Amino acid sequence: MDSGWGFLIGLLGAVWLLSSGHGEQQSPETAAQRCFCQVSGYLDDCTCDVETIDRFNNYRLFPRLQKLLESDYFRYYKVNLKRPCPFWNDISQCGRRDCAVKPCQSDEVPDGIKSASYKYSEEANNLIEECEQAERLGAVDESLSEETQKAVLQWTKHDDSSDNFCEADDIQSPDAEYVDLLLNPERYTGYKGPDAWKIWNVIYEENCFKPQTIKRPLNPLASGQGKSEENTFYSWLEGLCVEKRAFYRLISGLHASINVHLSARYLLQETWLEKKWGHNITEFQQRFDGILTEGEGPRRLKNLYFLYLIELRALSKVLPFFERPDFQLFTGNKIQDEENKMLLLEILHEIKSFPLHFDENSFFAGDKKEAHKLKEDFRLHFRNISRIMDCVGCFKCRLWGKLQTQGLGTALKILFSEKLIANMPESGPSYEFHLTRQEIVSLFNAFGRISTSVKELENFRNLLQSIH
Ligand code: FAD
Repeated sequence: MDSGWGFLIGLLGAVWLLSSGHGEQQSPETAAQRCFCQVSGYLDDCTCDVETIDRFNNYRLFPRLQKLLESDYFRYYKVNLKRPCPFWNDISQCGRRDCAVKPCQSDEVPDGIKSASYKYSEEANNLIEECEQAERLGAVDESLSEETQKAVLQWTKHDDSSDNFCEADDIQSPDAEYVDLLLNPERYTGYKGPDAWKIWNVIYEENCFKPQTIKRPLNPLASGQGKSEENTFYSWLEGLCVEKRAFYRLISGLHASINVHLSARYLLQETWLEKKWGHNITEFQQRFDGILTEGEGPRRLKNLYFLYLIELRALSKVLPFFERPDFQLFTGNKIQDEENKMLLLEILHEIKSFPLHFDENSFFAGDKKEAHKLKEDFRLHFRNISRIMDCVGCFKCRLWGKLQTQGLGTALKILFSEKLIANMPESGPSYEFHLTRQEIVSLFNAFGRISTSVKELENFRNLLQSIH
């Protein structure tokens, strides 16, 4: 479908919304319609519609992606949850049991992963396996060929370079630990109230290119905010260039995704024997119902779709990196590693075939100097957000917050490295473009979270329809 069709669909959608009155005057609407009627049709700033994403994600991508994320390579993520908050001291850990993160014992993580931070060429793997003392590959191993050593140094330098959108954890720190993501799922933790609001507030107030004078609507930390400020906020948002608007929408999409998850895996019942987790429709409605949130909920769900499209686009662009014959999803189990690589490539080819990809060429396309400044601003704002994650006072939320910001940061790095990816040699070390294992794991898991949110929206839609 070309952009003309997208525009036509958007126009028809807009006409339909206008003629149906989409809300207040229509009576009586079901709760399902209220949550979802505005989350349909054409998405702002893109030529894609929500229904196409739903079909593509829920039936073609989601099941395969889940399978991939259950594999050893993707389920173990190394993270430092003990890094001090760089912005304030008074972090009260919420102390709730559901906020706890259980790190892996060292014998639980496959040896191949523990020693494989920089492994992914056949040559590097073989040589490193022979080297008994090579416990920490952050340092350059003498037994590597000169060419590979050079590449490793380049990669390390590159990881700290100005192309990174995230401040990555130092995974060699003694405080960094492997976490099994399958055993520590993102779900309701009970982290809420002023501590949680403070984090969201700082993220929006200080990082979303927002002039100091305009307060966000419905900000629970501010009192007495009325409709007029809300309108000022949205006209301000509309007046922004596409990149700054996109930045706000990415953050809002991430926020919406986290809140969809906690509503979908809510603590429904607790006895001394077991806990029951499941969909909490009331929680979902309070956050996303068009009327209860005065129109905010559907806007936030649209931002979630926008985030989906951005990460989807990045995955389609990075295919050549993973297609290189010497790239491996190395865990030490050769047969499984090969099968997983095949599954990964299948998923990436499927993603590439998506017909309505976001056109990132409209980003930073203006005057060269201006575009450079904007890209740099974008990167610095995003790095700041990744540092704020160290201030989240619930370890489980911090874990998933860090993973998802690193994943989104990696997606942005890919989108802005298009030329470097295109110039990569087909085999041998790549000096210009490189992804660490941490970046790969976070990229796919972060996308897995958004993909699950889109699938959960379908589940909520069905649940809401079934109760009315
Ligand atoms: P909040 O979600 O705290 O939102 C604060 C205000 O921001 C709202 O009043 C509204 O004005 C605005 N807002 C809400 N959503 C959006 C949006 N999508 N876009 C723009 N503005 C919005 N809780 C868990 O149970 N499990 C988790 O895994 C978890 N992870 C978290 C990770 C991070 C990084 C943070 C900061 C919080 C996390 N939380 C988690 C807490 C959760 O996100 C909420 O903060 C909490 O449930 C309280 O919700 P609330 O309704 O008070 O509004």
